[in-house]
Amino acid sequence: AHVADLIAAGEVVERPASVIKELIENSIDSGATMVTVEIKGGGMTYMRVTDNGCGIAPEDTETAFLRHATSKLRDEKGLEAIMTLGFRGEALAAIAAVSRVELLTRETGAETGTSLSVEGGAVKARELAGCPEGTTMIVRDLFYNTPARLKFMKTDRAEGAGVSAQVISSALSHPEVSVRYIKDGKEECHTPGDGRIDSCIYSLFGREFAGGLLKAATSDDAVTVSGFVSTPVSARGNRSYQFFFVNGRIVKSKTLQAALEQAYKNSLFTGRFPSCVLYITLSPSQVDVNVHPTKTEVKFLNEHQVFDGVYYAALSALESEGR
Ligand code: ADP
Ligand code: MG
Repeated sequence: AHVADLIAAGEVVERPASVIKELIENSIDSGATMVTVEIKGGGMTYMRVTDNGCGIAPEDTETAFLRHATSKLRDEKGLEAIMTLGFRGEALAAIAAVSRVELLTRETGAETGTSLSVEGGAVKARELAGCPEGTTMIVRDLFYNTPARLKFMKTDRAEGAGVSAQVISSALSHPEVSVRYIKDGKEECHTPGDGRIDSCIYSLFGREFAGGLLKAATSDDAVTVSGFVSTPVSARGNRSYQFFFVNGRIVKSKTLQAALEQAYKNSLFTGRFPSCVLYITLSPSQVDVNVHPTKTEVKFLNEHQVFDGVYYAALSALESEGR
């Protein structure tokens, strides 16, 4: 791999969880309704993501692994209104630069598929292949050619936990996509993909958690908030069950967190760390997702607006229950 590719790879690919995030996003962008994720050894030795999306044409398979090759963003104006999850064309190039990748893909309606193997950024083989419609990416031996990075990896157990958390937030971000997750041969979760947030939450976290949630919703000209907030039954001892999605992306945001927690303080319920699964929709021009390729922080043009949206959604849910 070229040095520039390795440096770029370091930006996008930090650990197995970041690979999984990018691969699932690509699957969702491809229009998939079903995505299967499988990992072994915490993802360090083996990761597989299979989808039933549009597939990749044989002549485009190699291009997909080139830096800045993306099929998704056509012009400058596009950046203002990104609707797909990917747009930089960096992920596959970055992943392939630091691992051994196998691609199996067949376009919808095509007679045959293609298999392509890439090692450390170099294409090793491309062949016709029989395979189902859709795309499978297998990533083996992450960071095998960058020992310095390998040293920064935690235990397989910790990396695997990171992958699991990523799969959960990806599944929640798109309840219309059925996500199946297999870890070391065991099925960890399988969301129905029926588009219902509540059934998605139920399948991921179980009955007790799902049963302790209240429906929350507000909407004004600029911001729509919908989803669920917890009663004390579903509250957890930390913030790891606070999920915020902005225009379909999982985000970390002090503003959103503060809005939720402020609503709790002003309600009848107590509990330091309320849980939530909240979806915030606003004009793409009002939010900057372009801060960093992998980071989940976002910038809002109008912080007040989103704070108020989440605050009132949460507070009205809690008050209606308290009454
Ligand atoms: P980006 O998602 O930013 O376009 P990526 O490097 O993640 O860049 O992917 C490069 C290209 O490969 C995509 O633009 C898309 O055309 C193709 N691609 C990747 N994964 C899939 C997939 N699962 N199904 C269909 N096409 C895919
Ligand atoms: Mg992508």
